[in-house]
Amino acid sequence: MRRPALPAPVRTLFETAFSCFAPPRCRACGTPLFAHGNPYLCPACAGTMQWIGDRACAKCGFPTESAGARDGEGCIHCLRKSLRLDAAVAVARYRHGARNLVRSFKYGGESELARPLAGMMAARLREADFFGAIDWIAPVALHPERKKERGFDQSGILAHRVAKATGLAARSDLLERRTETVPQVRLRRAERLRNMRDVFVANSDGVRGRRILLVDDVMTTGATMADCARACREAGAEKVYALVFAR
Ligand SMILES: [Zn+2]
Ligand SMILES: [Zn+2]
Repeated sequence: MRRPALPAPVRTLFETAFSCFAPPRCRACGTPLFAHGNPYLCPACAGTMQWIGDRACAKCGFPTESAGARDGEGCIHCLRKSLRLDAAVAVARYRHGARNLVRSFKYGGESELARPLAGMMAARLREADFFGAIDWIAPVALHPERKKERGFDQSGILAHRVAKATGLAARSDLLERRTETVPQVRLRRAERLRNMRDVFVANSDGVRGRRILLVDDVMTTGATMADCARACREAGAEKVYALVFAR
């Protein structure tokens, strides 16, 4: 005879009680975290984080040492293909610890990571030259089907938390994603750029004459951001900035 399954509330209680005894795990690699300073990362993963400070391209946030990148000319990536952003900042390189952290947040349902990620993004944003010039924060819209699949909208959550932490306002009605695209991770760089053309539409009532900050968890090729920036400009935005956790 099969044993009846525990009713859901009892099961939740059981899991909660159990989790009090199990040590929390590193959100990047999964090793148990015993008493040490960082509640999210083990010392090894924390050591692999590459923070992006001031030495970054002002236009796209890519870390750089090259001359010119700080006086608005853009880095070699921007010179090759402009993302059409007025300025961008990022917290960390999308590698090692930061990449695993973002993946846990996005695909692993680790929604409590929203707080520390958004906290770091808000701190980075406050240091940016354009911080005082932002009218609205616009999360990079997720396709409704992706949202349904994943159960939550990572850029929307980050954008609203960053807004709360900085006293700015986030609006989810400014950008809309028009057609379904093949998930970018499955494509090569050239295909990504093609895949992301004309996908976003901006709400011109909200965007016209405004300075918009686009928020997303990650910017890699920048194709998604570039298309959001294009949409905002076509809708009459005065300035378009970007903030991401990882670049
Ligand atoms: Zn770790
Ligand atoms: Zn650049």
